[in-house]
Amino acid sequence: METTGNRNAIEERQLKRVRPMLETVLRTNEFYRKKFAAHGSFDISSVESLKRLPFTTKNELVEDQMRLPPFGTDLTFPQERYIRIHQTSGTTGKPMYWLDTEESWDWWAECWKVILEAAGVHPGDRIYFAFSFGPFIGFWAGWEGARKLGAMAVSGGGQTTSQRLKAIIDYGATVLICTPTYALHMVSEARKTGMDLAKESAIRITVHAGEPGASIPSTKRMIEESWGANCFDHPGATEVGAFGFECQSRSVHLNENEFIAELLDPNTGESVAEGERGELVITNLGRLGSPVIRYRTGDLVQPSYQPCPCGLPFLRLQGGVLGRVDDMLIVRGVNVFPSAVENVMREFSEIEEFRVEIFDKEAMKEIKLVLEPCESSVVGLAEQVSQRVRERIGLRPHVEIVAPGTLPRFELKAKRFFKV
Ligand SMILES: [Zn+2]
Repeated sequence: METTGNRNAIEERQLKRVRPMLETVLRTNEFYRKKFAAHGSFDISSVESLKRLPFTTKNELVEDQMRLPPFGTDLTFPQERYIRIHQTSGTTGKPMYWLDTEESWDWWAECWKVILEAAGVHPGDRIYFAFSFGPFIGFWAGWEGARKLGAMAVSGGGQTTSQRLKAIIDYGATVLICTPTYALHMVSEARKTGMDLAKESAIRITVHAGEPGASIPSTKRMIEESWGANCFDHPGATEVGAFGFECQSRSVHLNENEFIAELLDPNTGESVAEGERGELVITNLGRLGSPVIRYRTGDLVQPSYQPCPCGLPFLRLQGGVLGRVDDMLIVRGVNVFPSAVENVMREFSEIEEFRVEIFDKEAMKEIKLVLEPCESSVVGLAEQVSQRVRERIGLRPHVEIVAPGTLPRFELKAKRFFKV
């Protein structure tokens, strides 16, 4: 990975990639040819000049696939050039299908190699993938990244949680890859049989994707303590690529060798200043077969260009992905992020699972926390949680305690936030 240079050097490298990509895409990619047709000539003389092009939105891509099913028209090559198909998790509406060519699939693997190396994974490590290997892209690409790195990849597909725990011990796995929610689920399953994973497993690094939890301080701490490992976050998206990684100084960086990032105020479309929160807009540089150009990810981030102690010159996303732009809620005049609520919930080791409900009462928004404790009778938990949420977020929530085993468990994208 080329990691030297200041911002000019980074942009120089990006320009060298984006110019030929746009030339090809404008010739043979029907989606972008049509979309950009009204914008005249393309003189991409700087990264800044890319901003003359219109944004790409998820809705446009979904509508395009509905109009021309199953794959739509964001295809730069004939269909026989594509060798992999994945789909989005569809947590917000219809899933999108996404195709990769040999070259773009190799690019995914290279991006994952960067993620694993940044977390400190070496050749010789044994990486356990606690993942079902369904059509969701995330850990398929991680699997390929492990091969690129020269580490051993162990599949946890088609197994129960207890089988996976046994495999982690039996194989002497040193790295765990899964969602943060699932890492904690494995811990609580292990505890039921008296197993202490920090002592009994060889896991030293965990890498998480699919949810922002590994950048939520209490969730990260809980994973690190219960696994006896260092926990790393990785933000990415099926239609965009594996765009972020966490370094040894524990900052989440955007991989600016492979992606061009812009940060926008989601309401006005104007750029946000360093330190302010904005929507992440991405152009990927290595997925010529099915690119996204100025794509509005819907992810809310807080950028920093301050140098990182790790020495990498790439943009930092402070706190990782803070949430989805759509999830930002105003309850009684207070901005509420799902990640902020999760941060408080994970401070209570008595809470096994939880769910957050936002509802309207007499034209006001109210928040209700449904908590599932580890044991059936935890005295005073509701009052303690209510108090902590009031101190931290400035809201008085309704709290309901439910019996163990009531709430759903998640292997992939956890859904805990509901507008009812
Ligand atoms: Zn760093």
